Amino acid sequence: MAEDNPRAPGKGPRVVLFGAPGCGKGTQAELLAKHFSIPAIATGDMLREAVVAWTELGQRVKTVMDSGALVDDELMTEVVRERLAEPDAQGGFLLDGYPRTPPQAETLEEILAERSQTLDHVVLIQVPEQVLVSRILARGRDDDRVEIIRERLEMYRKKTEPLISYYKKRGLLREVDGNQGIGDVNAQILHILDSEEWSS
Ligand code: AMP
Repeated sequence: MAEDNPRAPGKGPRVVLFGAPGCGKGTQAELLAKHFSIPAIATGDMLREAVVAWTELGQRVKTVMDSGALVDDELMTEVVRERLAEPDAQGGFLLDGYPRTPPQAETLEEILAERSQTLDHVVLIQVPEQVLVSRILARGRDDDRVEIIRERLEMYRKKTEPLISYYKKRGLLREVDGNQGIGDVNAQILHILDSEEWSS
């Protein structure tokens, strides 16, 4: 029988970072990954890489991604289950872009339970809407055209924001003010994560 919540050596927290497109979660995930020596797992990056490599997965998701809509849950379950089974994810991870909906959050709980693991924190990075749009436009990615940005923000509001109450109910939600410099946002998140036993 696996011991409760086993954490491999090189341990760090198991964290979900979420917030609207452009809130800076990708940047923060990278910084935290370095700090804790744990992987930043960005489902959007994984899917974009699959499209560039034109794998079967990439071919299945390209049209949906280009429209700003969400890829279907079953496909995402496969992608995330496989990634979280990798050895480097056993000592903690930062999830960026997953879960995106309450059903995905339930699936994540199941995937982790299969490995006798649980999440430590869910960090919500809050940024006002007008700041989001200008940040996304400055980034200039393929799916960053104005009408697609609007669709992605709408998707976030409709499908992803319900995660706030989902994780509040579970006592996991931590909110940070993302309308600040990268270093200040990082300091807020580290203040939440760093105080725990895995930092020793
Ligand atoms: P991101 O880089 O996280 O903004 O993701 C870019 C695009 O990838 C999204 O607009 C979705 O089409 C797709 N995607 C990424 N993660 C997910 C997810 N967890 N569920 C559904 N679609 C996703």
